[in-house]
Amino acid sequence: MTKKILVTGGAGFLGSHLCERLLVEGNDVLCVDNFFTGSKDNIAHLIGNPYFELIRHDVTFPLFVEVDQIYNLACPASPVHYQFDPVQTTKTSVHGAINMLGLAKRVKAQIFQASTSEVYGDPEIHPQTEDYWGRVNPIGIRSCYDEGKRCAETLFFDYWRQHKVDIKVARIFNTYGPRMHPNDGRVVSNFIVQALKGEDITIYGSGQQTRSFCYVDDLIEVIVRFMNASKDFVGPVNIGNPGEFTMLELAERVIALSGSKSKLVFKPLPSDDPKQRQPDIGLAKQELDWEPKVSLDDGLRQTIKYFETKI
Ligand code: NAD
Ligand code: UDP
Ligand code: UDP
Repeated sequence: MTKKILVTGGAGFLGSHLCERLLVEGNDVLCVDNFFTGSKDNIAHLIGNPYFELIRHDVTFPLFVEVDQIYNLACPASPVHYQFDPVQTTKTSVHGAINMLGLAKRVKAQIFQASTSEVYGDPEIHPQTEDYWGRVNPIGIRSCYDEGKRCAETLFFDYWRQHKVDIKVARIFNTYGPRMHPNDGRVVSNFIVQALKGEDITIYGSGQQTRSFCYVDDLIEVIVRFMNASKDFVGPVNIGNPGEFTMLELAERVIALSGSKSKLVFKPLPSDDPKQRQPDIGLAKQELDWEPKVSLDDGLRQTIKYFETKI
C-alpha cells in the first residue's frame, strides 16, 4: 500500500538518497527543507515525479500535513555549518523535534529521528554501545549540535512514554557518499576535494584520531528497515560501519584512489574533537538483521567519481 511519507531535511545529503529510495518503493514522498545546507541540485531529478512534493519550510515552525511516516533529518550535520548559527542549530533540533513529534501525535504517524554518535561526545568506552551515556561538554562549540540532539532524544522518549507516539531513534555514525556538500568541511569531502584539486590535504591535530565511515547506501538500507521493523523496537540503535581508521589512513587512501599528488599539512585540532569513534552495531545486527556491505575503498571510489563531476 502506498504510504504518505514526510522527509525533513530531504534536500540534504542523506535526505535526498532517502527520498529517492522511498519513491522507488512506490511511496508518496513529501520533502521539507529550508535549504540551509541542502540544495535543489540534490533533488532536481525527482521534481516532476507526481509522487514527489517539495515544500520550503523551516521545521522550527509548526507544520500541518497528513502523513503515515516521518523521517526527521532536518539539521545541519557538519561542524562548519552547525557552528555558523549555533542558536539556530539548537532550535532546529529541539523546536524541530517538538513540532514533528506534535505532528506525529496528531496524525498517529510513525516517526524516525536521525540522532548521532555525537551524543557520546568524546567517549571513554570503545567501541560505543547504546547503553553508554556519553561524555559531552555542555558549553563548548560542538554543544549546540550534541546537546540539541541529546535533548531531541529526550523529547522522542517522552512523547513515546507520555503520548504513546510510535518512535524510532537511530544514532548515525559518520556517513559519506555522493551529494555531500563539497564545502561542508567534513573530513571525507574535504580530503577528496583537496586531492582532486591537487591542494594540500589538511590533517587536524596529529591525524591519529579515528572515525568509522559508513557508505550512504548501507545507511539508507538500515534506516528504512528500522522504520518498518517491529513497533516495539524503538532504539536507540547505533548505525554505521565499525571499520575504524585514523585520519592519516583516510588521507592515504584518498590520495591512492584518486591518483593525487597532494601533500599532507597539519592544522590545529578543533576543540572538543573526539579522539576515537567506532560503533558497536550488535543491536542493529540482532534486531534488524543488517550490517554494512560496502568497503571503505569501494565507497571512496564512488564518492571520488561524484566529486570529479562537481569540480
Ligand atoms: P545535510 O546538511 O546534508 O542535511 C541536512 C538537511 O536539513 C539540509 O538539506 C538542510 O537544508 C536541512 N535543514 C537544516 N535546518 C533545517 C530547518 N530548520 N528546517 C528545515 N530543513 C533544515 O546533512 P546530512 O549529512 O544529510 O544529515 C542528515 C541528518 O542526519 C542530520 O539530522 C544529521 O544530524 C544526521 N546525521 C548525519 C551524519 C552523517 O555522517 N552524515 C551522522 C550523524 C547524524
Ligand atoms: N504541531 C505541528 N503540527 C501538527 C501538530 C502539532 O507542527 O500537526 C506542533 C504544535 O504547533 C506544537 C508542537 O507541535 O507547538 C507540539 O505539539 P503538541 O500537541 O505535543 O503540544 P501542544 O500543542 O499541546 O503544545
Ligand atoms: N578533519 C581533518 N581534516 C579536515 C576535516 C576534518 O583532519 O579537513 C578531522 C576532524 O578534526 C575530525 C575528523 O576529521 O577529527 C572527522 O571530522 P568530521 O568533521 O568529518 O566529523 P566529526 O568530527 O563530526 O566526526
